[in-house]
Parts: sequence; structure tokens; C-alpha cells
Amino acid sequence: AHHRPPGRGPLDGQPAYLDVSLPVADRIADLLGRMTVEEKIGQMLQLDARDDLEDQVVRMHAGSILHASPQKVLRARELTLQTRLRIPLLVAEDCIHGHSFWEGATIYPTQLGMAASWDAGLAERIARATAVEVSATGIHWTFSPVLCIARDLRWGRVDETFGEDPFLIGELASAMVRGYQGGGLDDPTAILATAKHFAGYSETQGGRDATEADISRRKLRSWFLPPFERVAKEGCRTFMLGYQSTDGVPITVNDWLLNDVLRGEWGYTGTLITDWDNVGRMVWEQKVQPDYAHAAAAAVLAGNDMIMTTPGFFQGALDALAQGLMTEEALDRAVTRILLLKFEFGLFEDPRLPDRERIATTVGSSEHAALNLEVARRSLVLLRNDGTLPFSGGLVADASGRALPPAAALSEEREEASGPRRIAVVGPLADDAQTQLGDWAGSSGQVDWIPDGHPREMITTVLDGLRAHAPADWEISHARGADILTLEEDPAGAFFPDGQPRPQVVVPTAPDASLIAEAVAAARDADYVVAVVGDRIELVGEGRSTATLELIGGQVALLEALAATGTPLVVVLLASKPHVLPPAVTDAAALVWAASPGMRGGQAVAELLLGLIEPSGRLPISFARHAGQLPIYYNQIRGQHGDRYADLTQSPAFAFGEGLSYTTVEYSDLRIVEPERGRDDTVRALVELRNTGARPAHEIVQVYVRDSVTSVSWADKELKAYRHVDVQPGETATVELSLPVADCTIVDAAGHRLVEAGEFELLVGPSSRDEALLSARFRVVDAAATTAS
Ligand code: BGC
Repeated sequence: AHHRPPGRGPLDGQPAYLDVSLPVADRIADLLGRMTVEEKIGQMLQLDARDDLEDQVVRMHAGSILHASPQKVLRARELTLQTRLRIPLLVAEDCIHGHSFWEGATIYPTQLGMAASWDAGLAERIARATAVEVSATGIHWTFSPVLCIARDLRWGRVDETFGEDPFLIGELASAMVRGYQGGGLDDPTAILATAKHFAGYSETQGGRDATEADISRRKLRSWFLPPFERVAKEGCRTFMLGYQSTDGVPITVNDWLLNDVLRGEWGYTGTLITDWDNVGRMVWEQKVQPDYAHAAAAAVLAGNDMIMTTPGFFQGALDALAQGLMTEEALDRAVTRILLLKFEFGLFEDPRLPDRERIATTVGSSEHAALNLEVARRSLVLLRNDGTLPFSGGLVADASGRALPPAAALSEEREEASGPRRIAVVGPLADDAQTQLGDWAGSSGQVDWIPDGHPREMITTVLDGLRAHAPADWEISHARGADILTLEEDPAGAFFPDGQPRPQVVVPTAPDASLIAEAVAAARDADYVVAVVGDRIELVGEGRSTATLELIGGQVALLEALAATGTPLVVVLLASKPHVLPPAVTDAAALVWAASPGMRGGQAVAELLLGLIEPSGRLPISFARHAGQLPIYYNQIRGQHGDRYADLTQSPAFAFGEGLSYTTVEYSDLRIVEPERGRDDTVRALVELRNTGARPAHEIVQVYVRDSVTSVSWADKELKAYRHVDVQPGETATVELSLPVADCTIVDAAGHRLVEAGEFELLVGPSSRDEALLSARFRVVDAAATTAS
């Protein structure tokens, strides 16, 4: 009964769904009425375009494809025109820090790197520029941003997150969604944003990817859901469901989260997409559905709209209908949401195919490269400096961006102060262009059509950067010094049961005495040694969580040997995520973290070392001293029994919010304007910042709240606001801070978010460390408990 004969005959005349003068709802209704059950099921499928595209588009009537090479985007369109209804495809790709797999596109720092800027405006500009490039190439949908909270540093996808704080995540994610979606779907440069991975995927067991997420509803509501709620209400057009199960229920069929919370409480009307083969995995991996018919019915009934890469959904859904496990109406609801996107995009009139001219003028444009450099500069976090940086006390650049020799930079009488002229640039990542781009870019492994990665000439490594930007008469030497790893096939076989490639196993490379000797010789001959160390793509990503956080391979031995030379050692940690650092690094003259800093990263690092720019990044995530300290995030629930392990402190190596500048800034005189406030009021405070050093400061003034007594256990402090403030040397700035009382919430045991009257502390300073924060008290009066959402 469900298998209606194909169509209502060929499309003679102009069918109503092609009539642009009709309201979209009428066009959808008309089209739905013409679609067969097979066409409806196919419309819900998003398939991997690297497979048999003709089978997907023509036989299975796929509504969407992903991972389509530039050629396949065009081929898919030809195939669509062979179908009966010619419903245009939605073409999707993971463009999560730039147009990942389009050769020559602009690749920005990863989300974690962007997050170190704490700058939502910058994030919005990155997303906008990305959308401009992506939309020109025939792609309509990006699977970005990631709103997962990074809490276990061993997880392989920490680099894809905005770090550990839900407020910062919400600010940056909201900005990226705005940037991608631009002025709305009728804007030709708009692409669909995706909030992912809904919700709790990052709450792994032991950092292992895609485990059961053991997470209570209160915990979800307290920290994991707020960023998603924000972008849901702000109109993020799609949500992707993660790989996790909670309380035994895969998110794909989690009725409470999808229907009660997302659709119900938040009123979300956007489109839901599963993650990769979530529907099939319920059968073959999680084993919570007996077959594809049951899995398909369960996924549809739970409210999923688009099913990513489960070709078996096609027959499964047909069988489910035949067996009465679901009805065609359930399909109509999902198909309606998918068609709505296509009509709002205007794809029936203009399928938004690759546009040669726009590609030529926008993809990898110099305007985007300039933005990328700005982002890379802002993503760097200076974590240690004994005064060695900036080199020569800081240089100035000529018009071409090259630093002038110190003699020219300094006044005549200080000529004798002219600085070092020899820098040894060493380490396995000093000149590794593709690694610098991080995951989801070029040759990072998800697609097969750019095996060599992005064009080398678009990427500046740290070595390139120092060669190009150090004064022309400085000597820059280079030695690799160490290797990191080799790969071996997993003893379990090269493929997973579903045919996906299984990541190879990492074998750390043993230290190589001759490589080290070469680097040591270079360091001895130099005034400074810059060691660029970190991780590689094989240690990053899905299925590539790490058990340890140490620098692997020959790197620690290299660093120790370099430290022993006595030449001031500057470590550039070019790492996707926080690492556990050896004494040779924590005691080094200086340490800069560059979290997969993208194509212009090397230039930004060089400029920072030379003092052509000021360090301004702040950690969006804490660094542990030992993997055994995990979780190490700052906003933990107050516990008991002290704050130490028997054998180690619990304090992080570097805390959330930390980051140095080349000057010193003193915070003083925090005062609250009216310390007694009602629930609808705003707390206003003032704080003085004084730049007591010799260089400009770009300060990120952080505002945390501590609720002195709560009816249920709660985080000891939470970030609630921050402000970017520039202060010139010798100057004082009075900074105004404001915080709505409605933001001073906790979540009670029943999961309700509320403000509890009583005493609070406003904590203001340059990082989340207690010792760095000034405190002032305020009271919230009116004890009546009201629910603030
Ligand atoms: C990842 C998603 C990604 C999707 C499509 C999945 O394995 O978890 O983040 O968007 O693949 O590439």
C-alpha cells in the first residue's frame, strides 16, 4: 500500500512546485504530493559522493551528498537532471576552519586556535569569509561549528572545539553561525551552519572517541546544552546528532533530548542530521536495533530528518513501511523540512553550482589571506617568557613586513644594544607545512582528492616566517633534530566492519643521536634557538584519541639536549591540543602555543618572536601537568577533601584564561556600583587597568561569578563576561563591566535553571586562577525563586 506507482506521469506544463510566485508551503505540498515513497526516503538520505554517485542519485533518489570532489559536484548535477522530479541536491562538506578540501582555499587556525582569540567578531568574519569561498564552489552546507565542550584532553577531537567553557563556546559558536548563514538563505553567499555534535559527545570515557556519554540531565542542562540552546534560538538552520549514547539511548533515538528539549522547550524548527551512519551503527555496532527496518523506523519516529551515509536506510525504510513500523506521514514531516531548505535557498531556480568567476576572485583571495594572518596572530598564546622575547627587545618592520635590524630599530645611541643575529630554528614541525593546518584540511585524511594537501606556497611555516621577517642581515639556520612517529597497520586489520579505513597505529620514533647532534650544533652557533615541537595529524581526530599527552618520538630528548646547550631556548608548541610538557619546556626561556595555526601561522609566530606584534591570545582550555590530572577544566564543581593528589597538585600547568603579553598589566580597585541588586537588574562594576611595562597591551578582562552558597553543588566559579581592552604603556584604563543578574544561575537537582538570592562574588582578572582575580561582593535580593531560561 505504501508503494505508490511512480508519480503522476511526466511533468507536463509547469508543475506548481516550480512556480516561484507561490508560497513555499504550497510548493512543498505540491511536490510532496508528486513524490513516491522511494523518492521521499531518498530525499532523507545524504550519501558519500566518493561512492557510486549514479546509484545514489538515480536509483536511491538521494536528497543530499557530502565529500563530493569538485568534479563530482558537477557530475551529481547532471545525474539530478536525469531524475523524474529533478529535485536539486543539497551539497554538504565539513568546512570547519575554511574550505577544508578545496585545493587552494584559505585554511584558518582550527576552532581551538580561533578560540584563543576570545573574539566573536573575528570568528564571525572567518565564518563569513569561509561561506563566501564555499558558496562559490557549489557547496551549500557546512558541518560547523562544533559546540562540544573539551573536558578530556586525550580525546582526539579537542582541536575541533572552542575549548572548555560553555559561555565562551556560546559566544564564538553564535558568531560563526551568523557568519555562515549571512543575510539569510536567499543571500547567494550564505551556507547552512550546523551545530554539532548534539549533545554530550565530548563527555567520553577515558578520552576514547564515541563512547557512551555518562552524563546526567542536570549536567547536560548545566554545561553541555546552553551553547546549543543559544544557537537553536538564534536560528542555526541545522543540528547534527553525535555518536554518543546516554543512559543507554543513542542520541539518534533520544526522544527526550530531540523532542522534549530541542523541539519542545527550545521551539527548534530547523533540520536534524544524524552523524555518519548513526542509523546503521545502531544495528551493526551498538546492537540496539535488530535490523535496518527497525533502525530506520526508530530514527524517523525520533524526528531525524536527514540520514547521513546509511545507504541501508533506503531498503530499511521501505521495509519499515511494509511492516507497519512507521507511516508515510512520518516521512513527510522530515522531507518537508529538507525541501524547505531547498526552496528557501532557491535551488529549484538556481542550483548554486560552482561559479568559475566567483571561485577565481574569492577562493584563497588576498583579502582572506590577510584575515587569516590577523586570526593567526590573535590565536597565539604566550605562556612563558623570561624576557628573552621579543628578540632584541622588539623590532619594527619596514613596509614589506621585514623587521629592520636592531640598529635601525633602536635610537642611534643604543646601537651597541643591537641584538642577536643568529637564530637556530629546529624541531620536526619547524617546516612541516601540512601539519600546521591541522585536522579537516587538505591531506588530513577524510577525502581522497587532494592527497598532497594544500599548495605549499600558500603556507608559511615558522622557518619560512623567520626567514622572511627577521632582519635581512640575521642568520637563520635550520635542523630537524627529531622525528615524531611512524605508522603500522592495526593488528585488527586495515578496515572497520563497515568498510571505513581503520586508523593506523602510531609508533613513536626513537631519538636519533645524529639528528640531535645537528640541532645541538646549530643551537651552539646561535644566539637563540627556536624549537618547534608538537603533534601530528596521526595523533589527532576521530578514532585517534591519545592515551598520553606527552610530546612523543625524539622530541623530549631533543629539547633536553637543546636546553643543555645554554643557548636561550624558545619553544613553539605547534600542537592541536594542550600537551603535558617536560621540564625542558616549562623551564625554557619562552613558550608559545600555536594551536594548528593555519596557512599564515608561521608568519604570525615569527612576528610574535620578533616583537612585530603583541601577544594577545588567552587559553580557552587548561593544560594538565600529567594526564592523571584529567579532567582539569577550571569550572569544576566544589568538592571536598582538599585540592591535592598525594603525589601531585591538582592545579593545572596553565589555566583557562592564561596568556602573557610583552608588558605587565596591573588590575586594581574593583568596585561594584550598587552591591544590592534585584533579579531583573544588572550588576555594574569598574576596575582599573594599568600598563606598567613598556609595550602596548591587548588585555582580555575576564569576569567570573562565584555563587557563595547554592542549594545544590555547583561550579566554584564560571566565566560570565569578558572585555577586550587596549592599554598603552604607562596608561591607566577604567573598564566598565556589566553582568545581568539573570546570568547568575545555577541548575537545581530537578534540572531547572534559576537565580538563587543571596551573596555572590564578582571575580575580575587576567585568568581563571584564583590568585589572579580581584573579588568584590554583591547580593541578589528577593528570594522568590523564578526560572530564568
Ligand atoms: C564526524 C562529523 C562530520 C561527519 C561528516 C563524522 O564522522 O563526526 O563531525 O561532520 O563525519 O564528515
